[in-house]
Amino acid sequence: MERNERLCLCCQKALKGRIDKKFCDDNCRNNYNNVQNSDRNNYVRSVNTILRKNRRILEELLPQGERTMNVPKQKLRDKAYDFNYHTNQLQTQKGLYVFCYEYGFLPLENDWLMLVKKKE
Ligand SMILES: [Zn+2]
Repeated sequence: MERNERLCLCCQKALKGRIDKKFCDDNCRNNYNNVQNSDRNNYVRSVNTILRKNRRILEELLPQGERTMNVPKQKLRDKAYDFNYHTNQLQTQKGLYVFCYEYGFLPLENDWLMLVKKKE
């Protein structure tokens, strides 16, 4: 066995030839890159799913036609709202609004939130 034996990143077989080689052949290169890309896509998909779920929870809590409503933060927790994910924030004199798409909230005192919907 050679000392600095290099292995194919895809199939882990020993590589022969150029020192900068990372794969046995184009098949291994393509397989490896496809797996990398699908991992990245899976991550994006899972974040999108959380964001859409958060948005739906806000949409459901805010009565139709209403622009704002105050709710206890617990009500969002009960629906498994994920406070780690949002699409954007808006700093105002009243405080920091947190949005998931067009729905959002402003934290109030005593663990209450003011739900809001952006004007179209
Ligand atoms: Zn290989």
